[in-house]
Amino acid sequence: MHFRVGILGATGAVGQTFVRLLHDHPWFEIAALAASDRSAGKPYRTAASWQSGTPIPESVAEQTVHPTEPGALAGCDFVFSGLSSSVAGDVEADFARAGFPVISNAKNYRMQADVPLLIPEVNADHSVLIEEQDWGGDGFVVTNPNCSTVGLVCALRPLVGAFAPEAVQVTMLQAISGAGYPGVPSLDIMGNVIPHISGEEDKLTREPKKILGTVRDGRIDEADLAVSAQCNRVPVRDGHTACVSVRFADAVGPDAVREALQDYRSPLTAEDLPSVPDTFLHVFDEPDAPQPQRHVHAGGGMTVSVGRIQPCPVNDVKFVVLSHNTVRGAAGGAILNAEQLAREGYIRSRTETPASA
Ligand code: NAP
Repeated sequence: MHFRVGILGATGAVGQTFVRLLHDHPWFEIAALAASDRSAGKPYRTAASWQSGTPIPESVAEQTVHPTEPGALAGCDFVFSGLSSSVAGDVEADFARAGFPVISNAKNYRMQADVPLLIPEVNADHSVLIEEQDWGGDGFVVTNPNCSTVGLVCALRPLVGAFAPEAVQVTMLQAISGAGYPGVPSLDIMGNVIPHISGEEDKLTREPKKILGTVRDGRIDEADLAVSAQCNRVPVRDGHTACVSVRFADAVGPDAVREALQDYRSPLTAEDLPSVPDTFLHVFDEPDAPQPQRHVHAGGGMTVSVGRIQPCPVNDVKFVVLSHNTVRGAAGGAILNAEQLAREGYIRSRTETPASA
């Protein structure tokens, strides 16, 4: 498989993670980088304030950043979007109407009834919603969830299969990189906790119900799950930590939860899709794990870590979940979505000349 891809919002925190993860991807070749008018026309090295932790890939460093217009990315088979939500709604619609598959990180279309909110290990069957979309051609939009929702839902998935969770309380400790670049001013976050992230609690309340819902007749019946969320920005660079407490319809204890999480096997392997990690969920027994500084890079940032599984005197069981917000929660998750959609045939080459032509 070989596809030429464009990255919208290529200069941002998520866009840079796309570049880092894609520059040596076996299926996807970075064909075009796009960003705002502030960046268009500049070499990528100059336009992006490279923060990604590894050297900027030489293969893209001198590429000229394109304006964010479908015509400028005509040589791409599909686009990833790491666009600010302030512009993603209109821009992603323009690209979908121009016939592009748009694999987005932005919030704008996540809750639209015909748009999959996809995590391939959790709800791969939701991709059929693409067939309900009508942008006037072959284009479509697929989204990945909010970076906090991702870790929570990955940990809930085995529990939904084994038991009947009916209510979840989650307190999020969210990394600074979740606010993009340059993000939160240093004087606001150094030595501090900010107990408000605009719109985040609403996303955590709504998105899990859609993701864990069931597709029927081209629509999703949402899961019957109450979620109460509190979101805090904390002085951590990468990695969102979720302190979760779950109430089940029938009595379930920590041993059963641990067993369900440990025994859960992802329906996908690295042989199916290149970005599938060897371990989907890693369960810690150590009393002080998981921690962002030690464990956020597990599985290249695609493994979700769970620990501190204990009885909860208010609900039934409580535990802690850690996931990488710009990898599993953004660019890595979106790349996995694109791999799944390519394997299913939803993403096709727009640029190859048929052999018979
Ligand atoms: P960011 O660092 O602020 O980057 C935003 C990107 O959008 C930049 O490349 C910027 O280009 C581009 N952009 C802004 N205005 C534009 C315009 N008018 N036209 C074209 N491009 C424009 O944000 P981020 O953290 O990477 O987040 C990107 C998206 O992913 C957001 O929707 C966010 O909610 C979502 N998300 C982020 C995370 C995370 O952990 N950071 C996780 C999940 C989802 P310039 O550099 O040229 O301004």
